[in-house]
Amino acid sequence: PPLTIAIDGPAASGKSTVGERLARALGYLFFDTGVMYRAVTWAALQRLGSVEDEAAVTRLAETVQIDVRPPSHEDGRQADVWLDGEDVTWAIRRPEVDRWVSQVAAYPGVRQAMTQQQRRIGLRGRVVMIGRDITTVVLPEAEAKIYLDASVEERARRRYLERKARGEAVSYEEILEGLRQRDHLDSTREVAPLRVAADAIVINTDGLNVDEVVQKILARIN
Ligand code: C5P
Repeated sequence: PPLTIAIDGPAASGKSTVGERLARALGYLFFDTGVMYRAVTWAALQRLGSVEDEAAVTRLAETVQIDVRPPSHEDGRQADVWLDGEDVTWAIRRPEVDRWVSQVAAYPGVRQAMTQQQRRIGLRGRVVMIGRDITTVVLPEAEAKIYLDASVEERARRRYLERKARGEAVSYEEILEGLRQRDHLDSTREVAPLRVAADAIVINTDGLNVDEVVQKILARIN
């Protein structure tokens, strides 16, 4: 199998579930780059009170220590995420992070800082790395490139069921609207917008379960 597998796609397209399963099947590291943008956003909200000051948020991105480690608990987490020595694994999933992360991810200096760290991890190989710009910017030389897609309604439905199962009070309409906004910002920003790489394998996951998607990918890349 290819040594480096890059997966991009819009929010809640199944990248993390599929990517983790794929990594496990191959004995590779699973690395979700979204948690890094989320950690910077959380740091900005906590320490700056907002994400508005681009220069200050960029400085923060350049100086914070983000560590992503194998999961220490079986509580649904895919990794432990640490920010300057603090466990922020669940904090970075809060609605206020969902709300602001795309603005932070559009700051060029923030992207530069994150991309550098991600490339270093990706180039070691034996990794499944997921995000928005992995196939296009972070690891354009990846041996396998996949773009996972699904309709926004299907993605909102999945996210809704996921959050409800965790006991959170959520509204389908709010999730749908939030995903629409994030998709728009992520695909229209100037630096590293979400797009389909010319040589990516595109898989639409509407109506497919996780197993079926993983099997499809394994069949295409082996
Ligand atoms: O994948 P996830 O939804 O956790 O990512 C959160 C946000 O981080 C995305 O909406 C996007 O704005 C940003 N992101 C990015 N590039 C990546 C991964 C995530 O811009 N490689």
